[in-house]
Amino acid sequence: MLASGSAGNATLLRSGGTALLIDAGISARELSRRLAVSGLGDVRIDALLLSHEHNDHVRGAAAVSRRLGCPVYANRATSTGARLLRAVPRGALVEFVTGSPFTVGCLEVTPFLLPHDAAETVGFAVSDGRMRAGFATDLGSVTLDVLAGLSGCDLVVLESNHDEAMLSDGPYPEFLKKRVSSPYGHLSNSDAAQLANSLFHDSMAHLVLAHLSRTNNHPDLPLEAVRGALGPRCSRVTVTLGWQDRAGEVITL
Ligand SMILES: [Zn+2]
Ligand SMILES: [Zn+2]
Repeated sequence: MLASGSAGNATLLRSGGTALLIDAGISARELSRRLAVSGLGDVRIDALLLSHEHNDHVRGAAAVSRRLGCPVYANRATSTGARLLRAVPRGALVEFVTGSPFTVGCLEVTPFLLPHDAAETVGFAVSDGRMRAGFATDLGSVTLDVLAGLSGCDLVVLESNHDEAMLSDGPYPEFLKKRVSSPYGHLSNSDAAQLANSLFHDSMAHLVLAHLSRTNNHPDLPLEAVRGALGPRCSRVTVTLGWQDRAGEVITL
C-alpha cells in the first residue's frame, strides 16, 4: 500500500507478470518515488484501476497513465464524474461494468458496489486463480455486495476510518461529521472490526486496515478493535495498517 488516507490513496498488487495499481490519489512523481523506496521502481504497471472519482483516489491518475503508459480502468459513472480524468490520454480509458469480472494479464478483477457518496464507488476482488485479494476502502456501511465481494479473500484491505467518539467530540463541522458517519460515508473502527470478524476464515492470511483519519483516529485504535472482535483468532491473521505519508511494507502471500 503506497499511500492511504484522505490525502491520497494508491496500492500496487502484483502476481506473475501482471501488476495493477488501485487508485492514484498522489502525484505521479510521489508514486514513482514510493515504488522505488519499496524496491518496486522497475515494475511495469499493466492497469490503473479507479474505485471512484474523489480527488484522493484520482488526483494523479492522468499523469500516472501518461508517465507509466498504462490504461485507466473505471466504470462509466466514475470516468464521466471525474473532471481530472479528462486529461487521461485518448484511448487509454477502459470502461468496466460494476459486478462484471474482467481480466488484466493473469489477473481476474471483479468490481463490486460500495455504499459511498460518489457516483458509483467500487471495491475490487482480484484473483490469480490461486490467491484472492479484496479491497474496500471508501464505504459507509456493510452491504451484501460488500460481504460477497470480500468473502474468501487471502488478503483483505479494509477501511477503518474513524473512532466514533473521536469523530463526534472532534473538530469537524457538524455537516462533515454527519457525512463521514452516514451509511454512505466512511467505516468506523468498530464497523470495520465487525466486518473483519464476519469475513474471517482459515485461509485469511493478512488484513490491512486502511484510510485512517488523521483527525478522528489513532493507529492503536483500529488494531485494538480488530483484536477485540477476533479474540484469540487474531493470532492466525497478520494485521497491519496503511499509512498516509509513506508506503507500507511489501506483503507477500
Ligand atoms: Zn477516499
Ligand atoms: Zn471517497
